[in-house]
Amino acid sequence: MSFSASIITLFPELFPGPLGASVLGRGLADGLWSLEATHLRTFATDRHRTVDDTPSGGGAGMVLKPDILARAIDAVAPPSDPRPRILMSPRGTPLTQKRARDLALGPGAVIVCGRFEGVDQRVIDARNLEEISIGDYVLAGGEVAAMVLLEAVVRLIPGVLGGADSHADESFENGLLEYPQYTRPQSFEGVDIPAILTSGDHGKIAKWRAEQSRALTAARRPDLLARPKS
Ligand code: SAH
Repeated sequence: MSFSASIITLFPELFPGPLGASVLGRGLADGLWSLEATHLRTFATDRHRTVDDTPSGGGAGMVLKPDILARAIDAVAPPSDPRPRILMSPRGTPLTQKRARDLALGPGAVIVCGRFEGVDQRVIDARNLEEISIGDYVLAGGEVAAMVLLEAVVRLIPGVLGGADSHADESFENGLLEYPQYTRPQSFEGVDIPAILTSGDHGKIAKWRAEQSRALTAARRPDLLARPKS
């Protein structure tokens, strides 16, 4: 069975959006993965199709109601569904390449996109939602965050990207940032491609790239060097 993503959102028309372009879109068309976006409002029970209410205790904005969201989650993914249930949330665990790789090896994901002030805590607890953040800033809704998560995951599904190990060397895959890349022309605005890369000596090239990776990581992201390898 291929990777299956189910999104619960107030804006299903935003999907697949950028996920429908290029190699990810081709993978979608070829059935290497699938995507279904479900409108949360479908699960509202009153005449006005209400999905949100004012925050208990006061404050600005609106909160997604737990009963409606739970109905949506249960309809999209009954308890026997093995897929992880994820809530996009700035309070979540920061998304990493490792989490993306793990998700890509699994059956898929059910992803809830928050809006307004977020969702009632009780549905997060009752449906055991894993909160994932895409960074320390606040978006207006979870849809773009879900796309970021899925884009990171889906490109790792075997067959989606052309070359089998085209991501083995990439930034974060070995705990380091990637070395600088070059391509023709040989001279660009008076600057040549580093001679080592055109020397044909693969041992020296690998060593140069490893040194560059390490220096770049030390300069820009020393926190990655201190982090245990994943
Ligand atoms: N009041 C909330 C923010 C709500 S933003 C707080 O302060 O934590 C509305 C929705 O956008 C969230 O429910 C979440 O689904 C999404 N969102 C916003 N920022 C995000 C981020 N950095 N990562 C993932 N999702 C995010």
